[in-house]
Amino acid sequence: MSAEELARIRADFAVLDQQVNGHPLVYLDSGATSQKPRQVLDVEREYYERHNSAVHRGAHTLAALATEAFEDARATVARFVGARENEIVWTSNATEALNLLAYSFSNASLGRGGEASARFRLTEGDEIVVTEQEHHANLIPWQELAARTGATLRFIPVDDTGALALDDLESIITERAKIVAFTHVSNVLGSINPVDVLVARSRAVGAYVVLDACQSVPHMAIDFAALDVDFAAFSGHKMLAPTGIGVLYGRSELLDAMPPFLTGGSMITTVTMEKADYLPAPQRFEAGTQRVSQAIALAAAADYLSAIGMDRIESHEAALGARLAQGLAAIEGVRLLGPAAGTERVGIASFDIGGIHSHDVGQFLDDRGIAVRVGHHCAQPLHRRLGITSSTRASAYVYSTEAEVDVFLAGVADTITFFGPRS
Ligand code: PLP
Repeated sequence: MSAEELARIRADFAVLDQQVNGHPLVYLDSGATSQKPRQVLDVEREYYERHNSAVHRGAHTLAALATEAFEDARATVARFVGARENEIVWTSNATEALNLLAYSFSNASLGRGGEASARFRLTEGDEIVVTEQEHHANLIPWQELAARTGATLRFIPVDDTGALALDDLESIITERAKIVAFTHVSNVLGSINPVDVLVARSRAVGAYVVLDACQSVPHMAIDFAALDVDFAAFSGHKMLAPTGIGVLYGRSELLDAMPPFLTGGSMITTVTMEKADYLPAPQRFEAGTQRVSQAIALAAAADYLSAIGMDRIESHEAALGARLAQGLAAIEGVRLLGPAAGTERVGIASFDIGGIHSHDVGQFLDDRGIAVRVGHHCAQPLHRRLGITSSTRASAYVYSTEAEVDVFLAGVADTITFFGPRS
């Protein structure tokens, strides 16, 4: 990406053009949430100023316009991830998408689909497989599903670098596995997991594959059909869209057989005092008044990213990730987590400075206008396995620059100087 193009992109993000604590803002916390360009904010404002209405309900013109925009947004987001329109279920965020899915495996009584929804019933003896890298959003819903159903939760461990240890895959993903849920890209390490290997093993034993795509969909070209996963989840706010919108992707034949999670208005065909019949997917999973402006804004964000080109965004961020990793690895006293500098990673780099708490690192950097994430990044088991309780994470996006990475690296070096030599 040329300097001119990057400058043009940055001009779309008003928030980036400000001083924080007397320094130009260096925003390296996009893995937590991204900033929003004016093109996305304008779409949301225009919706409220001109078309605001409840979708799928009213017979009036505004309701029809809102419904059309809402469903067009679904089509745009579906194209963005290689899905069909009825395979995109709107949720509040990825966390809700994963909970919706996990609940569906213990809601067979709501399915009214007989044989079909029985596929979504877990019992004792069944196994759910996750990995030790998971964000809590792709761990706790499965722990709770196991507790509700009597199924057993198993996990693929990581090695000392945090990479998935795949040697014993056949003994971990066995014929008993019903669900294999894993993250595409680690939100802590920035490593990319081998989806094909995990899908192949899951297919061999007939398990459903669930992909946590929170850290991949915003940053690289993704085609869920080509990846051959059954379900996937991601959040709009990490890809230039507002908060309050996320997606559960599911293969259409699975979603049509899957029991609903929330029940109520907008997801039914007929209701009597005794029972209700449900609409097909995706409406079956979208009970209640919907998040219209957020869905339209998510489609605008997908259009914005597509106009730049996901492949170009991916290589821009990979270059920044390499610069982050190499720079951190070169600072004495810094332990870079995840893939070694010089090997494949996205624009995420986390590190530990023994003896300096990540909160102190974050505070020191913030005094210079540098925004990073500190703590366990919702991945306590991974941190425990790596022998630390917390880390500091820098995460870049389409608008991040090499100059910002260099300011951050200088800040980290100065943090160590400030707090004194490490033992
Ligand atoms: N999974 C991963 C890998 C994430 O990075 C995140 C957010 O940090 C989530 C799940 C949860 O996303 P949300 O908080 O938007 O639901």
